[in-house]
Amino acid sequence: MDQPLDIVWSRPLPEGALPSTVTVSQDAAGRWFVSLLVEDPAVQPLPAAGSAVGIDAGLDHLLTLSTGEKIANPRHERRDRARLARAQRDLARKARGDGANRSKARRKVAKVYARIADRRRDHLHKLTTRLVRENQTLVIEDLAVRNMLSNGKLSRAISDAAWSGFRSMLEYKAAWYGREVIAVDRWFPSSKLCSVCGTMQKRMPLGVRTWTCDCGATHDRDVNAAKNLLAAGLAVSACGAGVRPQRESSRTGQSVTKQEAPRREP
Ligand SMILES: [Zn+2]
Repeated sequence: MDQPLDIVWSRPLPEGALPSTVTVSQDAAGRWFVSLLVEDPAVQPLPAAGSAVGIDAGLDHLLTLSTGEKIANPRHERRDRARLARAQRDLARKARGDGANRSKARRKVAKVYARIADRRRDHLHKLTTRLVRENQTLVIEDLAVRNMLSNGKLSRAISDAAWSGFRSMLEYKAAWYGREVIAVDRWFPSSKLCSVCGTMQKRMPLGVRTWTCDCGATHDRDVNAAKNLLAAGLAVSACGAGVRPQRESSRTGQSVTKQEAPRREP
């Protein structure tokens, strides 16, 4: 082929940047990707921000922040997922059919899946950049989202990918900008603790979206969890930068893993 390629840039190249590595790949939907690794001189640690935030991954919303803000899934995702389910049923029906129809159905599934993944990635990029800019300390749950979801393998795969994508973006951007990401052990009972009085509820079934503690505080389930994560993360952070990553008995519910962005010496 000697025609110029019809290229869609994910973002402009930094001025004067020379790629040191070029990677070419193709996804299941048949699209080609060229990734360029460049050193971006514009990436500098940001001035320290005073604030810290707890981030809870949820079912109803993509994320809930300790500030009370809820961040929804990308627009169109519900419709795209329905489309994906239809394409998959189609593929399953054609499983015993002829090869040409089957591979057409398979490409269709891959295409819808790729669009969902693209929109997700875009959404997560904007979100993580904003969170890292606004906060000095970001506390997340060291979480296997898989355990929280029960609505089918596919939705699970998408949510798992979204969470690990979110986490890795958050971590590398925090490293770029001199921020700190703290991951709280996934056994920490963030949903069961009252963030006001610290009392632990015996049960907190997934269906319960709001509840009232004996102390009188009424909680949104996810906001309360995000507040507890923040408090647990800050408790570790207060132990100082010398704390080594640690995992203690999960019985205490206090075990945390500390991760710190590399600091630039003044
Ligand atoms: Zn309480």
